[in-house]
Parts: sequence; C-alpha cells; structure tokens
Amino acid sequence: MRIRCLIVGWDGATWTVIRPLLEQGRLPNLARLMREGVHATLRSFEPSLTPIVWTTIATGKRPEKHGVTRFFDTATGLRTRRIWDILAAPDRSIGLFGWPVTWPPPQLPGFVIPSLFERANDTHPPHLRFIREMESGLQAPWGRRISLIAKAMRYGLRPGTLVHIAGYFLQSRLRRLRANDHFIRQRVLKLEIQLDLYLNLVRRYQPWFTTFYLNQTDAFSHRFWRYLEPEPFPPLPPEELTRYRDAIPYAYELADRALGRILRLTDEETLICLLSDHGFEASHKAGQGMQDFRGRLKGEAVLRTFGLDGEVSYVHHRRWIVLSFRRDASPERKEAVIQKLRSVYVPEIDMPMFDVKEDNIGSLAVKLYGARVFDNRDLDELTVVWPEGRCRFTDLVQPEYDLKVSGIHHPDGILVLKGPGVVRRAEPLSEATVLDVVPTLLALLDFPVAEDMDGRVLTEAIDPAYLQAYPLRTIETYDEGLALEETAEEEEVPQEVMDRLRALGYVD
Ligand SMILES: [Zn+2]
Repeated sequence: MRIRCLIVGWDGATWTVIRPLLEQGRLPNLARLMREGVHATLRSFEPSLTPIVWTTIATGKRPEKHGVTRFFDTATGLRTRRIWDILAAPDRSIGLFGWPVTWPPPQLPGFVIPSLFERANDTHPPHLRFIREMESGLQAPWGRRISLIAKAMRYGLRPGTLVHIAGYFLQSRLRRLRANDHFIRQRVLKLEIQLDLYLNLVRRYQPWFTTFYLNQTDAFSHRFWRYLEPEPFPPLPPEELTRYRDAIPYAYELADRALGRILRLTDEETLICLLSDHGFEASHKAGQGMQDFRGRLKGEAVLRTFGLDGEVSYVHHRRWIVLSFRRDASPERKEAVIQKLRSVYVPEIDMPMFDVKEDNIGSLAVKLYGARVFDNRDLDELTVVWPEGRCRFTDLVQPEYDLKVSGIHHPDGILVLKGPGVVRRAEPLSEATVLDVVPTLLALLDFPVAEDMDGRVLTEAIDPAYLQAYPLRTIETYDEGLALEETAEEEEVPQEVMDRLRALGYVD
C-alpha cells in the first residue's frame, strides 16, 4: 500500500533563511515540492512553544481547546482527537516519528515513536523502544551501545551511518571537540540515525498517514543565528565567524536531503505537507553579549553514582533529566530517592547540587540547582558530596559553556502543500495559520471538517475541479465518545522552567 498523506515537520523553519538558499540551488527537494504545489507563510501564535504549537497543528484547535497549554505537558492532557486519531482505521495505518507530545504513544494501527517532551522511552509497538534509547545510548557504556547499534542495524541503520557513528566515537575520544562542533556532529548524527530507522519503519508498516519531525532547523537557528546575521551582535573573531557562518544553511541542507529521501517513498497519489511551527529572527537581546553556562547532567552517571540503575530509567529534557520509576516502586522508596538527591551538595559554592521536582505523573524532574552560579567557575575544582560519598562535579555534569541563544522564535513559519487536489501556484497563499493545516488536509483527503475546529480550509490551495468533485463536508465534531482522563489541577509553571525557556528564546 502507498503513503496517502505525509507530513514532514521542520521545527522553526523560516522563509528568511530558505529563500537565499533556494536561489543558490541548495534546497533542491524543497524547490521541487514548491514548484509542484503551493506554499505560504504559516502564521503561528506567541509564545510559540513547540509542544503547544505542534499540538495546535495536529488538531486545528487553539490551546485552550486542545488542552496542551504548558511546556512540560504530555499527551495525557489532550482534550481532543488529533488528525491521526481521526484518520486511523484498520485499513488506514499510521506512522508517527518524532512528533512532539506523542507520549504516551497512542495505540493506533502502525507505529508511534515519540520524541520531544516524552517522559520515558515508550513506543508503539513496545519493541521499538530501542529507537528512543538510541538517543542517550550513544553515551551509554560500551556493551549497551553495541547492543543498541546491532539492533538498529536490523532496523535499517545504514553502513554509512555506522561509519559516521564510529567516527564520532573516535573523534570525541581522541580530541576535545569544540562545544559548537560537538553540537553539530551530535545533531547531524542523530538525524541520520533517525531517518534510517524511520524509512525502514515506513517500508515495514506501509502507513497510510505518516509524519517525520526534525528539530535540527530549530536547534541550529537558536545557536548559530549570530553567525548567519552577525550585524546586530557584538563582533566575533573572524575565524569563528567564518567557521560557523554556514551552520544554519547546513542544517537546512540536511533537512532538505532528509526530505528527498522521504519523498522517494511517495508517489503522485501522496498528499505531501511540509511545515514549521514558527520561524526565527535575531534575538532582541543582541548586543548584550549573552553567554550562559549550560551544564548537562550525565544521566547514566547520575543513576550509577546514586545506585538507581535498574530502578529508574531516564530521558533528557535539555538541561533536565526526567527519572521514571518502575511501576512497582513504592511511594516510600520514591521519597527516599528524592531526599537522597536533595541531600547532594556542592561545598565550594555552598549550594545543593540538584533541583528535584515530582511531576503529576510520578516522574522526577532533576536539574542543576542554580546554573547561573557556575557562570565563571572553574568546574574542575568543584566537588559533589552526599552523606555516603563524594565525586567530582564534572563526573556528573557535561560542561557546555558556549551556547549562545542568538536566534529566537518569530511567529511566521512555513507551509508547502503538494499532491492530488492541490493547485500548482508560484505565488504564496496570502493567509494561512497553524489552525488551518488539519481542516485543509482533511478536505484534501475527502474527510469532513469538524465545526469545532478553529481553523479553516485553505480553499485557495485546492484545485477548483477537486472541490467540485469532492465538495467540502462538515461534521459537528470528531470528539464524540472521546474518553478524557482526569487532568491535574491547573498549576503555575515553575519559575526555573520559565527562566530556562526565556534563555532558550521560547518566551519573552
Ligand atoms: Zn526553538
């Protein structure tokens, strides 16, 4: 069976970056898609928080209606069906890879690999969890790494990718990569691995509706904007400027190559949608010379050092690690772990080591207590002590100094549509918002649009002959019979979370 509908998400992709690259012929797959379909500026809302906007895209509804309103929300907070819930049927399987807020993974015919904002490595079906485990697995002990890679090879990891993984191990061992180079290498490799595995899953599961989401375009834009557009920022050493000037264009080229590989699995009958949740611009804080310390907790080392391996699993959320207990863990044991982590102390700065919070689904979110105090410290001099032991600070923390958030979200993202029923048009559509994606896709798949959706069908993107053959239909709602879980009481977003999001450019 063929793919009937494909959505490719490029987080943070923006026309201001894309246009010059199109002119230079550096994004051939995107160029072809645009030539054969229509495109638009996809207007988002502010603050453009990734989990909230991607959920709006997938539902056609505003946050207060779909229920995902906070940065750390999971799919348990959803109050409505998403497009794949609407489309899924025994003869219409679904394949989701990396779409934000798909944890816990829905039990749909097909496969679901959650990504950002997951609390654990669950996948659907469960035996695919090694794909999630690969994410932190490249830092795991050797035996674990090798078993993960062996499994990945059975699931489509290409020999070329394996060579790149080996090269990465070797390089990070032999010499210290600069923080920026490390950042680039790691994320390029991650995309390569994910794409190999995704394409293999599509061949295995033959989804009718499928999505592939990548966030390299977003991550590179936050970090390297000042090299792309240096003017508003304090001057950089010319060598550094030259070295990273092409980092963002490179991320877009990778995204375009990924798009090209995915498109090879589609045909003339596939409805294709490429989009982003927001765009980018130079940080308004440019000129203030920001430089943040962003230590990253080494999850494996934390578990080992405090004797938690086997008892909890963890995932990274940027600077947080989120620890999930086994189902049979007693509340007393959890409390003991919380107390233990809270007792860990950094004597040189006279502060606790960890900020530990329990979230409303029983996981522990753990991060460095006060990242700011490490700004001008020699980390090699710091120690970590707790009642039963001590270790070096850098045993538990991967120092990352150089992350300068110089690009911040701008509400204008991108949309490209191509396929049966879509017009071919060189000029952009005049009006399109993140609310309109689902209604438009439903119309193009000849499904009724729900009256309780907040967006509209972008009829100017649709061939009039198609509209005549398949007139727009509506139904009241797709949420009939939707079983809602009790949601936790409304709670304030913790100040630390807000600070972190601000530092990342997510909020003002
Ligand atoms: Zn972002």
